[in-house]
Amino acid sequence: AIPLVVAISTTMAAKNGFLIRDQTALENVHKTNVFLFDKTGTLTIGKQGVSDIITADGFDKEQVLSWASAVEAGSEHPIAAAIMDAAKEKNITPAKAENFSALAGRGAVADVDGKTIYVGGPALAAELNAELPESIRAAEEKAAAESKTIVFVMEKENGKTKITGTILLSDTVRPESAEAVKKLQEMDKEVMVLSGDSKSVVKSVSDELGISKYYAEVLPEKKTDVVRELQNEHKKVTMVGDGVNDAPALMSVDVGIAIGAGTDIAIDSAGIILINNDPRGVPKVVKLSKATYRKML
Ligand code: ADP
Ligand code: MG
Repeated sequence: AIPLVVAISTTMAAKNGFLIRDQTALENVHKTNVFLFDKTGTLTIGKQGVSDIITADGFDKEQVLSWASAVEAGSEHPIAAAIMDAAKEKNITPAKAENFSALAGRGAVADVDGKTIYVGGPALAAELNAELPESIRAAEEKAAAESKTIVFVMEKENGKTKITGTILLSDTVRPESAEAVKKLQEMDKEVMVLSGDSKSVVKSVSDELGISKYYAEVLPEKKTDVVRELQNEHKKVTMVGDGVNDAPALMSVDVGIAIGAGTDIAIDSAGIILINNDPRGVPKVVKLSKATYRKML
């Protein structure tokens, strides 16, 4: 038989837009004091839009977008969807890509037109030792000044990586995020952002939401390190995320919460799912946790 407390909390959860996969997550969430939010797709809609394409000398925008969309056709990252949309809008049919591989938290790579094309963020460009032409340096400055996400489209040939162009993207903060953060802060919970995106973008979203502590440019495997550091300071941590890159950290935290529209692996790694993708489900879940489990003590 299902214990009464489980039956009641399950009904309440469904009414409030979340799903409890693991009853201990519900039991523990009100006792956690740090709430770590992923940015892209969690605090933001994750439906990014391409705002600029800035090419290096010798390359044109159509070519860069065609290569990028060919690679991104194989990716499930929100950036990939934005790049595919931009290509479609410009009537660019992505070239055929072979040997696709996703590089979690960094980007993706595939062979296109007999070339090896990498698409990814600053971490990937640094990892590949890509040279930075002057036009691309200017693009980086523009991205930082406008708090936009920058993606590099790179060609690797004979061990050397050349940047062919960059794509700048902007995202929208979920209208519900501010209230979610405020409610948690009113419950004396410490809210932080943990993101793989660049510092300027993460800072701008954090500032907008009244969050003073954020971690930027964190690679997926390092997200777990941040969790461990916090736990070493005797903090109990809840993490909210949506991506493949969040999965290891979601499994290592005290309570993992996934966005319903997130990737399957994030959902499988979390104890609680926000079925309407609404971050206000997080303070609601804390309330339900308190109400359900305080009575039992
Ligand atoms: P967040 O932690 O905010 O959800 P991610 O870890 O998903 O961000 O991504 C971090 C960064 O990795 C992105 O800002 C981007 O630079 C790069 N990235 C990851 N996947 C892709 C992809 N498919 N195409 C381009 N860039 C990507
Ligand atoms: Mg994310």
